[in-house]
Amino acid sequence: MLVALTRPSSVADFEQQFARLMEQEHAIAFPYGRTGQLLLLEAMGLKGREIICPAYTCVVVAHAIVRSGNIPVFVDSEVDGFNMDLDLAEAAITEKTGALIATSIHGYPVDLDRLASLQDKHPQLRIIQDCAHSFAASWNGQAVQKAGDAAIFGLNVSKLMTSIFGGMVTTDDQALADSLQQMRDSKTTQRWSRNLSRALYFFAATSALNPFVFEFIDRLQRAGTIARFTEYYDEGVIDMPADYLFAMSRAEASVGVVQCDRYPEIIAHRRNIAASYDKLLAEIVEIERPPMVDGATYSHYVIQVDGPPQLTEKMARQGIELGRLIDYCIPDMPAYQRYRRKNDSFKRTQTLNGRVINLPVWVKANTAEIIAQKLKKSL
Ligand SMILES: *Cc1c(COP(=O)(O)O)cnc(C)c1O
Repeated sequence: MLVALTRPSSVADFEQQFARLMEQEHAIAFPYGRTGQLLLLEAMGLKGREIICPAYTCVVVAHAIVRSGNIPVFVDSEVDGFNMDLDLAEAAITEKTGALIATSIHGYPVDLDRLASLQDKHPQLRIIQDCAHSFAASWNGQAVQKAGDAAIFGLNVSKLMTSIFGGMVTTDDQALADSLQQMRDSKTTQRWSRNLSRALYFFAATSALNPFVFEFIDRLQRAGTIARFTEYYDEGVIDMPADYLFAMSRAEASVGVVQCDRYPEIIAHRRNIAASYDKLLAEIVEIERPPMVDGATYSHYVIQVDGPPQLTEKMARQGIELGRLIDYCIPDMPAYQRYRRKNDSFKRTQTLNGRVINLPVWVKANTAEIIAQKLKKSL
């Protein structure tokens, strides 16, 4: 990563590389994915409209909808998967609907055939692909990011590829790209370098595991100084981070350019590790394995078990930290209950919320074996 800082690239370089990687005409960089989403809704001219999105997704997506002056309409998950049920999504369309956010959650591609038939019936509907988990996942060989008006990406350290902070919007629509870029340029400011905690976090994340730096950062983290970069939400508030209109810096763009080169390797590794887990966990009856799907990019390998907290605690005692990624149902949160509609049901999302655990997919193959062995003993 430090190599990136000695070979600096501009934000425009990163945008060009990213557009090429995603096979799209335009890519526009933002400080967060959610900033890109918010300004995209504005650039599409949507205000006071209903925006359909999954109940099972990252809460920041809903925050950006509300903060853009629109109304989120939540849709439950499909029967046998993690993505939004597109039949329910279609049923939720009204004359007030402005856009639909199709999310390939955990890297599982959205059913683009089903989406195309929905789009045929509702040609005025704008389709936004949320590719923050999937990047270039594909459905029957068709890239998800290209199947709509625009796609949004998150680029923080927990994503498939990263520029430490950052987000990106891609599109093939010249007019939309122009107005979005204008909006971005007029609304974002170059105050990044004056923000000490953001600079420190960047330094920590890019320095090649320098123990001294990490000790220092760890202390700041425990003191709460930089917690806001790693903690996603407060259940009661619909908010954007204080720095959501800071422009992407050259340092971030430089890391992003290096990551673009590494992208094929990153995806290949994740697919390998997911396939290994699939074999390694096959005989553990207590674990429901996620489907193995062609074209999935496995931002997360999510197993389902009864009682995730007990298992994560047992594993933590053995030195393995497992994640609980989306353990909340957005329309059940206090801040979002007012957006629920009569007869809404989020049973499938709630079931996922209470059962999923994600195993690390960036690890080496032998670590995956150790994790599988410890899981077997812990159940
Ligand atoms: C991370 C994420 C985003 C947006 O990313 P930020 O850069 O954190 O704003 C959007 N959608 C999903 C599903 C995500 O996981």
